[in-house]
Formats: sequence, C-alpha cells, structure tokens
Amino acid sequence: MPYKFTFDLSKTPHHFFTEIAVASYQKGVHKVLLNTMQDIIKKFRLQEATGLNVQDAIVLLQDLIDIQASNLMMRGKFLQTKKRAVFLPHCSRKFMDGRCKAIFDSNIPSYICAHCSPDCDVNKADKIAKEKGYDVYVLPGGSCVPKILKTHKYEGIVGVACGEEVKMSLDLLSSMSVVGQSVPLLKNGCSNTVFNLETLTKTL
Ligand code: SF4
Ligand code: SF4
Repeated sequence: MPYKFTFDLSKTPHHFFTEIAVASYQKGVHKVLLNTMQDIIKKFRLQEATGLNVQDAIVLLQDLIDIQASNLMMRGKFLQTKKRAVFLPHCSRKFMDGRCKAIFDSNIPSYICAHCSPDCDVNKADKIAKEKGYDVYVLPGGSCVPKILKTHKYEGIVGVACGEEVKMSLDLLSSMSVVGQSVPLLKNGCSNTVFNLETLTKTL
C-alpha cells in the first residue's frame, strides 16, 4: 500500500540518514520525542526537500527510524542466515511500460529482468545481488511475498520498498520466522521510484 503523500529524499544530504541511524540507536533507550523529530525535519529542510507538511514529514521520518531500528536489531541474526533472497520493487524499473522487457511470471510470482537497460537500477541491483548469491525477485506488490516465502523457505530477505510496504512485509516475515533487512525508497510515487544502490549493496 503506498503512502497517501509523495516524497523525494534522493537529494537529501547523506548524513541525514546517518542521523536517522543514530536516532534509531537512541530509540531503544529514549523514546524519540516529537520535538526531536521537528528539529531534524527543520535541520535537514525536509519540508522544502519533499514538499510535505510537518505531519506527513513526521510520519515519513518515524517510519525511516523504525526501519533503521529494525535493521540494526535484526542485523546479527540476518548475518547468520544462509538461504537468502532480495525483493526489488517493480516501481524502480527504468520503464513501467512495454519498453521494460521483463516478463512477469505469475507462477513465481515475479518479474524476471531481461537486462534491457544498463542504467536501470533494478537491473544493476539484480546483478549485484546475484553475484552475492541471492535469489532475486522483482515484485509488483507485497501480496506476492507469502507465496515466495512458502515455496522457497528463505531464512533471510533483503527488501527494497516504500516505508509502508516495508512495515507490512516485516510483520509478515516475522510471523514466518524469516529475518528481514530493509532498504527504504528515497522517492516514492509507484513509478520512477528511487533507492540507494550503495545502501542496498552494503545491506546485502
Ligand atoms: S533492465 Fe530489466 S527491469 Fe529494467 S527496464 Fe529492462 S527488463 Fe525492465
Ligand atoms: S511506491 Fe513502489 S513499493 Fe511503494 S506501494 Fe508504490 S509500487 Fe509498491
């Protein structure tokens, strides 16, 4: 399910995400206060960068913090997993129409990238993940996840998606005793979305 608002954090300074990670660590000790969130939003001009109002920016920031906190908490367990897969979002494909040569196989269910565009982020992520021994799925939505998990019995999953999808998928993974790591989209909108390949590579 997408957010009811759109955002683009792809131009936000990289240390914004470091600060989020620091806040995540602190979250286990101190509850993050609304004031802190508003300070961070102001400091990084999140409203100007995203066009969001403060309430939406707080929702987004809280989700990013929750995701980072979950990543940090589950990292140790994830590193012990052996059978892993990566779930990429179909909305980050270079093309969302017939110019994308990926074929959707409903039996899996997943798109299978045909590597038609060297500068497509899904193509790049697919190659990086496969080189590291991951199975790769390009998903049109979170509803595809249960079938894949039931069929393949993965121990660890790295998922790229917008915050709302990530949160729903993490609940599902945990109910199936699968360890998850997440890379949130930096720009949402359900097409031409953006994620950070470097972050994905580090997470893998
Ligand atoms: S590289 Fe793959 S995902 Fe990207 S547009 Fe081509 S077939 Fe689609
Ligand atoms: S932004 Fe992408 S991952 Fe999020 S709901 Fe839309 S299609 Fe799914």
